[in-house]
Amino acid sequence: MERAAGRLIDRRGALAGLGALAAASTGAGAFATETAAPARLVQGGFAFGRTKPRAPISVDGQTLGVTSRSGLYLVGFDRDAPATTVFGAYVGGQWRTRTETIAPVSYDIQHVDGLPPETVTPTKPDIIARIAAERVKKVAAAESRDDSEDFKDGFILPLDHPIRTSPFGVQRVLNGEPKPPHYGLDLAAPQGTPIHAPAPGLVVLAEPDLFLEGGLVMIDHGQGLISFYLHQSRVVAKAGERVRRGEVIGEVGMKGRATGPHLCWRLGWRGRHMDPSLLIGAAAPATLTG
Ligand SMILES: [Zn+2]
Repeated sequence: MERAAGRLIDRRGALAGLGALAAASTGAGAFATETAAPARLVQGGFAFGRTKPRAPISVDGQTLGVTSRSGLYLVGFDRDAPATTVFGAYVGGQWRTRTETIAPVSYDIQHVDGLPPETVTPTKPDIIARIAAERVKKVAAAESRDDSEDFKDGFILPLDHPIRTSPFGVQRVLNGEPKPPHYGLDLAAPQGTPIHAPAPGLVVLAEPDLFLEGGLVMIDHGQGLISFYLHQSRVVAKAGERVRRGEVIGEVGMKGRATGPHLCWRLGWRGRHMDPSLLIGAAAPATLTG
């Protein structure tokens, strides 16, 4: 399936894909010194690239910051990304662009019943106000732009023995009501199971008990890539601290909108919703090849 094809890219496979792509991207208009991974781009996925350090980059005509200190960048693709995208980098006094194809993913429909009604369609003014106030904190944290390369070695799984209960992107019907898609990957595990940071990063939010998310941690991995860990029974990480890959950031719980203990693992890039599992085992290009 589309998802499986991109999900289990190991380091060797990603690098093999890089060689093919680099060879294919030397035509007019391509970046002179750039590679990208994985070889096949999908909705909810990503592309890594490397070009000149601190080069301005653009996506679909919009300028979005600069590459890292060593020239790395990451671009995320939304769940419903269009079939093509155009990357640009300002290198050697000119914009160089390349057009990439993004493969579509088909998403199932999932029904979830038995959720607390106020978490599906809030009616009480105090709860509506609380959700709005908590949203402001989440939006502010998601705007963090740490200048790091913490994304470059991809992710490991945040739980040791998870059971995937709800994949990324499914259409959701909650307590019988059609709702927006599921923008996370749900991993079931017993209450109290340690949650590990899947990559290094800067903790930009660590809240013990939000109304919808319960205990929530958000980590900035650089280049605008932000991961989310929801429904925690206990939050260990603290906002403003740096975490190492594998460090415990909290414990699995069922606080907020949940019917049982699980980790809802989410990933975002500049407002786009991504599938975090696609970054497991991925690796950014180590060197320039052009
Ligand atoms: Zn979820």
